[in-house]
Amino acid sequence: MPDTPIGFIGLGIMGTPMARNLMKAAYPLVVYNRTASKAQALAQEGAQAASSPREVAQRCPVVITMVTDSPDVEAVVLGKSGVIEGIQADGVLIDMSTISPQVTRAIAEQLRKRGGHMLDAPVSGGLWGAQSGTLAIMVGGEKGVFERCLPVFQAMGKTIVHVGGNGMGQVTKLVNQILVAGTLNAVCEALVFAAKAGADLEKTIEAVAEGAAGSWQLRNLGPRMVRGDFAPGFMARLQQKDLRLILEAAREMHVPLPGTALVHQLYAALEADGRGNEGTQALIRVHRLLAGVEARKKGE
Ligand code: NAP
Repeated sequence: MPDTPIGFIGLGIMGTPMARNLMKAAYPLVVYNRTASKAQALAQEGAQAASSPREVAQRCPVVITMVTDSPDVEAVVLGKSGVIEGIQADGVLIDMSTISPQVTRAIAEQLRKRGGHMLDAPVSGGLWGAQSGTLAIMVGGEKGVFERCLPVFQAMGKTIVHVGGNGMGQVTKLVNQILVAGTLNAVCEALVFAAKAGADLEKTIEAVAEGAAGSWQLRNLGPRMVRGDFAPGFMARLQQKDLRLILEAAREMHVPLPGTALVHQLYAALEADGRGNEGTQALIRVHRLLAGVEARKKGE
């Protein structure tokens, strides 16, 4: 597939390094970002800037979107000057944002009516996974279209699994987020408990991180919590968006998710404190307050 121009819409925290990895794999890249200034860095590195999602689709048989939420994907795909107005015959939209499975299926249907295809391909692995090209990518859509696009995914990710038809990529991502939210909350509780007991927090993490309690959240975010580093790889307000999507889907299926609902409420406390743009690891601020303990490395 190299030589195929790839379109990339949404150059935020995740989109920029993902697009950069496509250029590293020698794909010609056409980019669009709502805030045009954010496309400048990639343009200087060789990407061509387009003036609308429609133009991106006119110029590229494969278009990737990496924007925020369901209404944002609807806007860039189905809205005025959207991807759908320029989609090529047999063209593919790959949406890598995390959005609603239902909205995904509706967008796929609209594209099908115009002779295009859609893959929903949300990712896990955070900013660091995006930078290193090691994202986990869970893909929904037609198997043949997935196989055609596999080299594109391989430029950005490591674990790439076709999980079913349209919407199932997003369902799998919501499963991923139930696991992430519960695990992260457990990391916060564990560190606050350890702090109150007078433990050395760095030694505690070192001692447990490679055993049965080890997790990506503990290894990557635990040390940041202890250092008081709340810079975002993944913003708390986006985690809240994902938890909202999970709880909406669960309500429709009558599946109780008490643990996930609790974490959603704890993040609401963080947002109420004006910290929605901090990284998800800032959840420990809420637990610190509840326990009346600092949970930081000595001297921090
Ligand atoms: P971000 O830094 O906030 O970037 C969002 C991007 O979407 C920006 O380029 C923004 O454009 C664009 N956008 C939003 N609404 C738009 C609209 N209505 N029309 C056009 N463009 C719009 O967020 P991110 O962290 O990269 O996350 C992007 C997606 O990946 C989200 O669905 C998120 O849940 C998912 N995700 C994130 C991570 C992570 O660790 N960060 C991990 C896995 C999945 P402007 O520049 O103009 O605002």
